Amino acid sequence: MLKKQNIALLLLAAAVPVTALLPLPDFWIAQLNYMGLYALVCLGLVLLTGVGGLTSFGQAAFVGIGAYTTAWLTLNLGMSPWLTLFVGLGLTAISALVVGFITLRMSGHYLPLATIAWGLALYYLLGNLDALGKYDGLLGLKSLSIGSIDIGQGRLFFVLTWAILLAGAVALLNLLDSRPGRAIRSLKTGSQMAEAMGISTFRYKVTIFIIAALFASVAGWLMAHFQRTVNPSAFGLKMGIEYLFMTVVGGVGYVWGAIVGAGLIKLLDDYLQVALPALIGTSGSYEVIVFGIAMVLLLKYLPDGLWSVVASKFPRPQRTVDWHDAADLPTRSKPTMGDVVLHVDKIRKQFGGLTAVNDISFEIAAGQIVGLIGPNGAGKSTTFNLVTGVLSKTSGQVKFRGEDISALSSREISRQGMARTFQHVKMIPDMTVLENVALGAYTRGSQGVLSSMLRLNQAQEQRMMKEAQRQLERIGMGEYLHEQAGNLAMGPQRLMEIARALCCDPALLLLDEPAAGLRHKEKQGLAQVLRQLQSEGMSILLVEHDMDLVMDVCDHLVVMEFGTLLTQGTPAEIQASPAVRAAYLGTEH
Ligand code: ADP
Ligand code: MG
Repeated sequence: MLKKQNIALLLLAAAVPVTALLPLPDFWIAQLNYMGLYALVCLGLVLLTGVGGLTSFGQAAFVGIGAYTTAWLTLNLGMSPWLTLFVGLGLTAISALVVGFITLRMSGHYLPLATIAWGLALYYLLGNLDALGKYDGLLGLKSLSIGSIDIGQGRLFFVLTWAILLAGAVALLNLLDSRPGRAIRSLKTGSQMAEAMGISTFRYKVTIFIIAALFASVAGWLMAHFQRTVNPSAFGLKMGIEYLFMTVVGGVGYVWGAIVGAGLIKLLDDYLQVALPALIGTSGSYEVIVFGIAMVLLLKYLPDGLWSVVASKFPRPQRTVDWHDAADLPTRSKPTMGDVVLHVDKIRKQFGGLTAVNDISFEIAAGQIVGLIGPNGAGKSTTFNLVTGVLSKTSGQVKFRGEDISALSSREISRQGMARTFQHVKMIPDMTVLENVALGAYTRGSQGVLSSMLRLNQAQEQRMMKEAQRQLERIGMGEYLHEQAGNLAMGPQRLMEIARALCCDPALLLLDEPAAGLRHKEKQGLAQVLRQLQSEGMSILLVEHDMDLVMDVCDHLVVMEFGTLLTQGTPAEIQASPAVRAAYLGTEH
């Protein structure tokens, strides 16, 4: 990890026992305990909602599962709370897996609605089960203890809760800065790019849903033994909304935002509950009104939350380049020069009555640059998407290195060694160029969520960074390693996408209009990059509008018009073809 960040973390960790030793009134310690518990739930929401883009109003329900599991088991079976913690985590993981499997394929507003339904369902279930004490809940839980020492209240509980919270925050920070973390951060940009890098976006959605639920479950376990009672109202929809509210106020995209948001809302809540009725003269839940107004103002003026102000003052320090000695990542065997790499046989795509691609066939040999050209609407992008598996074919066959890949998904095809870029650049703007490019090496690594959280992934991480740097330097982007990807101009952005695709160690590279939006100089640079890649044995399929570039770099051209193959041949043959001229000039022969 980065040095300054380490120091900040150590100071924070030291602040916990120091705070516990200060002569603070018990009331304040109790406040801090609640803040810690709420922040733990919010931490999960940062990962799920802030980073992953999945909005959940149902986190309180997972807090409830953790709390009720330990309450019931300790009261009825006399089990130790240290055991029931793990039973609760298990039950939470199973419910999150089931709920996640059903809901996470939903898009748009359906997911938040589904989490509301789930929160409500659990609330009424808890409230109606006799064994769980219905709406009165369960009473008389034991405080947490180690041997004969009671650590479930006051200062010792504060140290326990905040130690867990800080450990969770560090684990999350570690995770976000890793192979699975980059995959998780790509979820918000839509699934197409991530899938094209060989990432199962659904798997990661379920994974972060489960992680967030586990954070909530631990908070529930702590809460149950701290309050020594559980009842459904603490785990209902209102609390579900409040957790989301706290996280958004603090800054849903920031790990430290979770703590700031939970702390602030807890303080304000208590203050306003006393101050407002005194001010107004009658009792009532006026704080809810104030919160409502504050939320609207915050969303308008500070949509990224309070921590975004802090984060903007302290730019993320550059990654130290410590991977010079790292080993290279494994590579796949490459086809020999001249072998057929891609064989497209009569592929067809119909959109209702429109035949966008009409029985197109062509081949690409290893070391060849093939251009796919044609007027607007000719079906080039659709052909591209049929080859890469983004769209399903109506009929026809695609063979890649001799294997039929017609029925494979874009993720499976990418794993076979076909890498692509996008007509409209798809990247993670708040990650550095280096990290964006490292996303391409995803399938060449293996480190998972747990090892990344524990930072046992460093050796492989260095190998990935080394590869990303190598690919960036290969295409002349060596100076941009630590630049925020979102700050790049169009030209470097497109080059970055090519470097990312190269990081997949592909046998075939597919580029969708790489020269679009590039200046003349940049186009010349791109042509040079393509020729250099070819000289290194790369096969390339190029969809491109810029005729100068196409004629300059391609060995073979496939010309489409109205979905059909007009002709194919060398650039010289194509330039001499009257049919092609007619198609481009819009005149009949
Ligand atoms: P190009 O990339 O050569 O400009 P496209 O492959 O994007 O052409 O489109 C070919 C034809 O297919 C166009 O007429 C377009 O309107 C149509 N088309 C493309 N995608 C779809 C879709 N998802 N649904 C319906 N029609 C589509
Ligand atoms: Mg197109």
